[in-house]
Amino acid sequence: MKILVINAGSSSLKYQLIDMETETVLAKGQCERIGIEGSKLTHKVPGKEDYIRQTPMPEHKVAVDLVLEALMDEEHGVVKSADEIDAVGHRVLHGGMVYSDSIVVNDDVKRVIRECFDLGPLHNPANLTGIEACEAAMPGKPNVAVFDTAFGMAMPEKAYTYAIPHEYLEKYSIRKYGFHGTSHNFVSKETIRFAGLDSETAKVIVCHLGNGASVSASIGGKCVDTSMGLTPLEGLIMGSRCGDIDPAVAQYICNKEGKDINEVLTLFNKKSGILGMSGGVSTDFRDVKKAADAGNHLAEVALDAFAYRVAKYIGSYAAAMNGVDAIAFTAGVGENDAPMRSEIMSYMGFLGVKLDEEVNKASRGKEALISAPDSTVKVLVIPTNEELMIARDTAALTK
Ligand code: ADP
Repeated sequence: MKILVINAGSSSLKYQLIDMETETVLAKGQCERIGIEGSKLTHKVPGKEDYIRQTPMPEHKVAVDLVLEALMDEEHGVVKSADEIDAVGHRVLHGGMVYSDSIVVNDDVKRVIRECFDLGPLHNPANLTGIEACEAAMPGKPNVAVFDTAFGMAMPEKAYTYAIPHEYLEKYSIRKYGFHGTSHNFVSKETIRFAGLDSETAKVIVCHLGNGASVSASIGGKCVDTSMGLTPLEGLIMGSRCGDIDPAVAQYICNKEGKDINEVLTLFNKKSGILGMSGGVSTDFRDVKKAADAGNHLAEVALDAFAYRVAKYIGSYAAAMNGVDAIAFTAGVGENDAPMRSEIMSYMGFLGVKLDEEVNKASRGKEALISAPDSTVKVLVIPTNEELMIARDTAALTK
């Protein structure tokens, strides 16, 4: 069975063709600058040179047609005809309060994705465009929507309800949703498998630490809490997002600087986090680390505050679950930054966590148990693979 995974953005479209028998990537690539001058397709097949096509892509349907051409190309292709593709799995940001699982796309599903445009204004319209482009390019082929918010839908009411008047939940569906759900779902289940834990009862905390960052707590692979909220702004300090903050700060800045709330929210989303705290060094953890090592005090504080915030979330989630069996690190920073993992874990002595510092140092981008044998909690590095999770769900729903 072969599954095409699509992640459509407003002017981009990323894809992977995955063989489900071996769970390997046959080909992957992306279309950039869709609807803008200078459109470009980059197609990668393992063991071959990149295939690049620069040709106009006025809309997503043209991009999907070009992806199919590349996949079937005599020289660079990996299938003979589109019939070999069994189904298409789409990453969709927001499923609102309707979808707690992936689902085969029909008119109702498209209506809900459209109704959630307000909740995911940057992503949902593009995601729907990607689905409609695939429907037009491959009539009759099943499409599956995999929602980034689905994992968080398992949260209990006490975890997802904001302490504001109830009418806002009723009227506008304002609640905590959580994002990176496909990653948290994948990594929590891989953690249970890799660490040999009980698939029904295991208490797992996943730290997805990338440019965007979030923590989730799950029992038996079901989410009980997660750090992002109605939008991805809540929770951890991120590359350019502030995470948790007193909302009155927004009003204070508005009043002092004559800004409106949208401008301040842009400041919180795009100019804050380690970028803002470091005095503008970078959103990239490697650059901020370099600056800190060179004696930049603000950069040092930014990284310390990042680790401190992650540690506080882990501590509160251990309390929320009345225990924790495993803590897993994933995404760019989580998979690669051993000193950061070590700093975060240095707060966890009270839980009986002991890191094997040598194994931690040597672990990069591959599955590894990095806690010491006598640690009461297992600590792991588990690379995330959202595309594979999307493909697995798509295969399961269309078999
Ligand atoms: P996103 O998908 O949210 O854009 P990623 O998961 O790709 O983010 O993570 C990107 C972040 O990972 C960058 O800030 C980068 O600096 C960081 N990163 C990648 N490799 C390393 C490393 N070896 N050490 C520290 N940080 C790293």
